[in-house]
This record gives sequence, structure tokens and C-alpha cells, in this order.
Amino acid sequence: MKHVMLDLETYSTRPNALILSIGAVEFDPNSDEMGRQIEIIIDSESSKSWGLHVDQGTVSWWEKRSQDARDRIFGSTNKVDLTIALHEFSEWFRGEFIWGNGADFDIPILKSSYDAVKRATPWKPYSGRCYRTIKNLASDIKMERQGTHHSAVDDAIDQARHLQTIVRHLGISV
Ligand SMILES: [Mg+2]
Repeated sequence: MKHVMLDLETYSTRPNALILSIGAVEFDPNSDEMGRQIEIIIDSESSKSWGLHVDQGTVSWWEKRSQDARDRIFGSTNKVDLTIALHEFSEWFRGEFIWGNGADFDIPILKSSYDAVKRATPWKPYSGRCYRTIKNLASDIKMERQGTHHSAVDDAIDQARHLQTIVRHLGISV
């Protein structure tokens, strides 16, 4: 499938934010089809050594999220170092387009981590697409959340399904 919806959970909202988890799903925005999915939980200590940014406000924000959401990240026994996480994502990624929620969040933050470890992103510089822009064209169509909010792969799937619903509703093709 050509399209991938990406969602990151992070410890900052800056472009060089430390990433806690990467979630993504392949999907076709012009139908109901979904493909392979991935979730990678990152050992945050490994990311700090690469100079990635931690914001105390975002750390406090995480303390107020649901137990489920926090368990999926902080309770994970499958955390991997940042370099391994990015390698795994690159191996998984076969898309042509990559979607994030906001032109200034998921995609540039993930690219910043690739830059930090001096690896190339698996997507091209012109592959980015913004789900937030499309979402605002149909603000009356609300997302039906099925997964755990702030679990990266669950959010990516919910966002992909929402985008499919909006595209169908607007009668457009993206
Ligand atoms: Mg999320």
C-alpha cells in the first residue's frame, strides 16, 4: 500500500523531541483498506544520549494520561534503543506517502531523530502529507476512537480510518 499513517508519542513538542513510541499503519485513503501495522517503544535513556529534547511540561502532561496509555509505553518490556527503533521502522516502511497529524509534528520530529543518528529517512523529502489539514475540511465528521488514546499504533489506525471516512464523505481522491 502506498500510504502510511504515522503517529508518535513524545516527551516534547519541539522539532527535536525525544520520541517515546512510533506507531504506523498502511492504508488506502480512497477505500476502507488497511494493511500492515507497527508499534515500536523506544528506550528514552538511549534517546537522551543523542541530545533529543525533553520538556518538563510534556513529562507532567503524561502523568495525567490514562493508565492504559502510560502502561503501553512506560510499562513496556520491549523497549529498544533509538538506532534499533529507526532501523526497524525503515525496514518496515514500504510506502510512498507518509501522513502525520500536523505538518509540524510527527513527520519532522521523526526526521529529526533520523538526522540525530545520521541515518536517512525511508521516505522521500516530498512524501509528507498532513491529516490535520484534511480533517479541518470536514470538522463535522468526528473521529470514532476504537483504540487506546495516546497509544501510537492505535492512534495511527484511528486517524487512518477517520481520513478514509472524510475522503469518502467529501467525494475526493487523495
Ligand atoms: Mg498519539
